[in-house]
Amino acid sequence: MKIHEYQAKGLLKEYGIPTTEGGVATSAEEAAAIAKKLGGKVVVKAQIHAGGRGKGGGVKVVDGPAEAKAAAEGMLGKPLITIQTGPEGQVVSKVLVEGAVGIASELYLGMVIDRATEKVAFMASTEGGVEIEKVAEETPEKILKEFADPGMGLMPYQARKLAYGLGLEGKTASAAASFIMKLYTLFVEKDCSLAEINPLIITHDGGVMALDAKLNFDDNALYRHPELVELRDLSEEEPSEIEASEYGMSYIKLDGQVGCMVNGAGLAMATMDIIKLAGGEPANFLDVGGAASEESVTNAFNIILSDENVKAVLVNIFGGIVRCDIVAQGVIAAAKNIDLQVPVVVRLEGTNAEEGLKLIEESGLQFETAKGLKMAAEKAVAAAGSGGEVRNEHPCKQRYPDRGAGHHGAGRHLPHEAVCGVWFKCRGRRNPRQGRPGHGRHPRLQHGCEGRRRAESQRGSHLRAARLLRRRHSRGG
Ligand code: GDP
Ligand code: MN
Repeated sequence: MKIHEYQAKGLLKEYGIPTTEGGVATSAEEAAAIAKKLGGKVVVKAQIHAGGRGKGGGVKVVDGPAEAKAAAEGMLGKPLITIQTGPEGQVVSKVLVEGAVGIASELYLGMVIDRATEKVAFMASTEGGVEIEKVAEETPEKILKEFADPGMGLMPYQARKLAYGLGLEGKTASAAASFIMKLYTLFVEKDCSLAEINPLIITHDGGVMALDAKLNFDDNALYRHPELVELRDLSEEEPSEIEASEYGMSYIKLDGQVGCMVNGAGLAMATMDIIKLAGGEPANFLDVGGAASEESVTNAFNIILSDENVKAVLVNIFGGIVRCDIVAQGVIAAAKNIDLQVPVVVRLEGTNAEEGLKLIEESGLQFETAKGLKMAAEKAVAAAGSGGEVRNEHPCKQRYPDRGAGHHGAGRHLPHEAVCGVWFKCRGRRNPRQGRPGHGRHPRLQHGCEGRRRAESQRGSHLRAARLLRRRHSRGG
């Protein structure tokens, strides 16, 4: 889960981490009132769940209330387009108005959970500000790294090492080390998946302060943080994914042509594998859950068909607890309610499979049925036409040419591992299931089944993967 900058700064303050003072406004008048109260120069900052606002015109340093009002007017209610939002941008409904701070230098500080080392990774650089991605790409040696052992936590010497590594001295170095220690405490206590301060600034009097703050949280830990759940802003999330989660389904929008309706995350992944093997590209990952009912199948159809890239749907259900005839009824009922413009291939296996297939064949609907997953995938790919463009490059390179494999795309707020973790995007590897944790499938998916916990886990990680895919993709990179 992501939160806004102003919310993140609220949390920093709770942990005694120095940051800017200001207030949030939803109207230009409010923005002017806050600016008046603060006095002097202020900064007006658009609050959206995406970075790169500075370059996109979402951060304005202005002189007083009148200018603050104008700046807020220019942002509120309008889409802000940044390198992270995609071409349609994200509509701004709140602005943060803060007292402008004099900056002596802008540094970078980031923390993420590094799946490869299974530690919290710290990244720091003197090249802070708005172009950390470029630094990571072109001069990775300018990014200092430190790893906190989960058993020991971050040791004070490590924080000092980072501070001195940044070229800081005396009380500024102590302040920076203390800043890093406190942010680490917040990171652990609040179950963050990412904390990024860019820029971390040095003020003219040698103070250290967070000028920007980005915090992401592990969705699977939200049950123990009701205070964080309150910060969730649904207007910033993908509507079809919210809808799916309300029905208890896991949906991830991808960019292929074959829509997949499957029960169980493992089967969903196998289905995507086979679609790729048949020369196609999956349009989504949709797990209708263990108890695929008539209602959930109908909802699932609606969600899949809301994606206009979908040229064919493959329904692949294994009847374990759920009975295939029930699923078939759901498919038939859904098909009658919906204006189905795309071919549907149904493969049912397990409990009451024969009955289910018979129902579909007798329904009068133009559905293809298939025996076996291979045949089903081949039929679905053929029905979808070309089956989508074939990608042979590693996903990190092919989608994000500006991101070098190996570093954390820190400024873009996602660790490299998360990108590589979207294993089904990766054609290059022989067998994605053989990957090391962090270099193949999501590590959680490599372990045994623990029922609900695992399902939740998968949902969280897949939703994150999906979000990042969409962000990157919509950038056209
Ligand atoms: P981002 O582009 O979305 O990451 O937004 P930031 O909050 O990082 O702001 C971008 C840039 O605006 C910063 O790197 C600063 O250079 C500038 N900026 C933001 N707040 C202030 C401020 O209070 N004073 C001054 N002088 N510059 C600021
Ligand atoms: Mn920033």
